[in-house]
Amino acid sequence: MLETSEDTLDPSDWNAFRLQGHRMLDDMIDYLEHQRDRPVWQPMSETVRHSFRQPLDDGQHDLEQAYTVFIKDILPYALGNVHPGFMGWVHGGGTPVGMLAEMLAAGLNANLGGRDQAPIEIERQVLQWVRELFDFPETAGGLFVNGTSMANLLGVLVARTAQLGDAVRHKGIATQQLIAYTSAGAHISISQAMDIAGLGTDALRMIAVNEQHQMDVLALEYAIAEDKKAGMTPFFIAGTVGTVGVGAIDNLQAIAELCQRENIWFHVDGAYGALAMLAPDIAPRLQGIARADSIAFDFHKWGQVPYDAGFILVRDGELQQRTFASPAAYLKRESRGMAAGSPWPCDFGPDLSRGFRALKTWFTIKVYGAEKLGKVISNTCALAQHMKRRIEAEPRLELLAPVALNIVCFRYRSADANRLNADLVVALQESGIAAPSTTTLNGQLAIRAAIVNHRTTVSDIDALIDATLELGDNAAKNYNFRNSNAIQ
Ligand SMILES: *Cc1c(COP(=O)(O)O)cnc(C)c1O
Repeated sequence: MLETSEDTLDPSDWNAFRLQGHRMLDDMIDYLEHQRDRPVWQPMSETVRHSFRQPLDDGQHDLEQAYTVFIKDILPYALGNVHPGFMGWVHGGGTPVGMLAEMLAAGLNANLGGRDQAPIEIERQVLQWVRELFDFPETAGGLFVNGTSMANLLGVLVARTAQLGDAVRHKGIATQQLIAYTSAGAHISISQAMDIAGLGTDALRMIAVNEQHQMDVLALEYAIAEDKKAGMTPFFIAGTVGTVGVGAIDNLQAIAELCQRENIWFHVDGAYGALAMLAPDIAPRLQGIARADSIAFDFHKWGQVPYDAGFILVRDGELQQRTFASPAAYLKRESRGMAAGSPWPCDFGPDLSRGFRALKTWFTIKVYGAEKLGKVISNTCALAQHMKRRIEAEPRLELLAPVALNIVCFRYRSADANRLNADLVVALQESGIAAPSTTTLNGQLAIRAAIVNHRTTVSDIDALIDATLELGDNAAKNYNFRNSNAIQ
């Protein structure tokens, strides 16, 4: 029973609390140690779902009671991205060290909006590492945000200031029609960023891709020329490192050159792929990224930092500051005391109160080291190649896209392939063995396996392929049966 002291939310019996806390910590360490013994995912019963519909004021529960609900009804029905068999979406696996760091950050309850405090120095340290990784200057600005969707929005907003000047902040968007460009394989958040920034999604050109699913740079040049002829102002190009559908890497060097020639902002959506800079065997394929004006990426995907930990890096840190900094009396800066240390993180983005995302990232990099994190990234790509070879060796399966990084798109061959493969993916997910997702490529439904988790091994890849064949054979039999019934 958690008895709280009369006037505060702290326990009255710290020792009892400590015991309960140790149990919780042990349970979560067990959970991570024994991931493999669990299904990747399992559907939750309606009873469980319904149990979460309680009124606000249903009395006080003790910690142990609430924790029992967590163990019984929450933990077993998570999405499963910590599990090595999870390949559904581009989700990171998290780490034990990251878990502990989250606890430490919550204990400090630090607010990283501003002021003079060591936690902000940790965020500045991570920013310094990020500058080093992408070969950006000391003057580059950067900030933790929740994810790359937000980081892409910040990129568009800084580029808008670059194009229209500081006046855009009080005058709003002037008469210029600003046009942005990205590939047809780009993430939807680029389009959302145009929407939220007030520029409109119609002002985003989705440029066709080549056979490697990279933005067609000639088509891009042509679109820019057409827009200029029509009196519009091209201002922003987003290249992608690791498209969400198939893991393609745009030709960053060619895009950088075009941006320089045309004086257009060069943004890179490197949500998961940008951290491939840590992997010596993959980094050369990102050549040109150091020429970007801004890079959006996540530590919570390939970086394995627990959710959430997105990041925006801007070459011109001063411009980033001019885009977001706002004067307010209570945010007054001093040269000494707690209000020192300006500029503050809140000057570089829209958030004022901000959590200590930097701590779990700092711990992850400190403890595992950049080299080991890079090895994890290389390994997931090697596993994707293993999966590709198994698919190519199996007549019942068919590869549907080139495997550039860690995403493999394939399907079970069938006359009714779209329907069969959709059913097959649901069956795989419900089997608990492995969890891929689907995507659509040229009208063909693909089974999509994104290998991101550091725990995934060859045996998990083999388990996915074996289960696909077994469940696919079963489904094919059923389909034939249904079809022959229909003919009769
Ligand atoms: C995941 C992803 C995003 C979105 O990132 P969030 O962190 O989920 O907001 C954007 N672009 C690409 C290419 C992605 O893979």
